[in-house]
Amino acid sequence: MGKTEIKKFENKIWLASPTMHGVEMEYVQKAYDTNWMSTVGENINEVERIAAQSAEVKHAVALSCCTAALHLCVKSAGERLYGKPAVSHGALEGKRVFCSDMTFDATLNPVVYEGGIPVFIDTEAECWNMDPAALEKAFELYPDVKLVVCAELYGFPGRIDIIKEICEKHGALLIEDAAEAMGATLHGKQCGSFGDYSAISYNGNKIITGSAGGCLLTNDIEVANKARKWSTQARENAPWYQHEEVGYNYRMSNVVAGVIRGQYLYLKEHIAQKKAIYDRYCEGLKDLPVQMNPIVDDTEPNYWLSAMIIDKDYMCKQVRDDTNALYVSEKGKTCPTEILETLALYNAEGRPIWKPMHMQPMYRMHEFITRSGSARAKTNAYISGGASDVGADIFERGLCLPSDNKMTAEQQDIIIEIIKSCFE
Ligand SMILES: *Cc1c(COP(=O)(O)O)cnc(C)c1O
Repeated sequence: MGKTEIKKFENKIWLASPTMHGVEMEYVQKAYDTNWMSTVGENINEVERIAAQSAEVKHAVALSCCTAALHLCVKSAGERLYGKPAVSHGALEGKRVFCSDMTFDATLNPVVYEGGIPVFIDTEAECWNMDPAALEKAFELYPDVKLVVCAELYGFPGRIDIIKEICEKHGALLIEDAAEAMGATLHGKQCGSFGDYSAISYNGNKIITGSAGGCLLTNDIEVANKARKWSTQARENAPWYQHEEVGYNYRMSNVVAGVIRGQYLYLKEHIAQKKAIYDRYCEGLKDLPVQMNPIVDDTEPNYWLSAMIIDKDYMCKQVRDDTNALYVSEKGKTCPTEILETLALYNAEGRPIWKPMHMQPMYRMHEFITRSGSARAKTNAYISGGASDVGADIFERGLCLPSDNKMTAEQQDIIIEIIKSCFE
């Protein structure tokens, strides 16, 4: 099938959009009918119970979003490590924190909210997540670092077990950003249960959604209680508004919690749909010079986003600056920009891989640590990666494919044909 025979999709094929089932509305309606329309109510209590049970941790704290959860993780960890800061200071003031590099910036922005300095750890080519060897290197260079923030990419767990061991060896705490990995497991253990503090997300495009929302996960009841207090403006137990520390307005709404409560009933079904999409891409693209997201031994991903990387020898010339991308079309070769533009032409949505943090203008002065040592983060255009900059290389050659769980097999077959046509 050539490009010319493929018709544009009438309805857009999304990267990942909310999938509702009806029962969500019943819980929302109940909140409405009983007038629990604020940040207190049965839906919130139930979300906390279900989230903790589902992630196999003792406590979940329901919050307005995962970024808020990560902020409270960072703040808790900071106070535990370095003591309570002065009111106008962050809990990590001037402290280095080792962070995932190839991720959404919400993973580590909260480190900066608390005055910390992110140091970026390169990605492992075999698992597309934080490279344990680079993390070891980082501890060699900075043995005093006491906090690591590690994200699980696209719902495919990396070596969070090894990352945890390395943290323990060096007396460091681990924050696990499982925003994308809800329901995924490693050695049969749920993502979100590895960190000393973890966070999950119910953002609109995640595996289940409340339109927004997130949870902080922990086994420590004091951390959970503290996070609940901070999230509701840090009121002290007094008849009036009494305050001893800075607070936030981070609590989840009982209406949003109603949606999430309903969605949890479909988490397994969504994972099965996402797996079917991933398997169909593997089969449909198997004759092309590409590789899909790697699956680490003894992990069960949630398959949130199917992504692929183009073999080096089949990349046409592609140049990206801070805001634009250009490529030169070449027979038998392609690049993420060409595939994404072609998908868009047919009304289907893909996305580049998360642009690594060390390549972001905001973090250009921060350190970036690879297996072979330390480097300054890069400023501008992509500088040819190779073994010493795995993240830049995956960003250069990789892309996320339409992974919406309402996409039909027929529609996905057309997407596969469109991708194939880019190699012609
Ligand atoms: C979505 C996401 C977040 C943020 O989640 P919100 O609920 O939107 O705040 C954080 N980290 C990662 C890796 C994400 O994908």
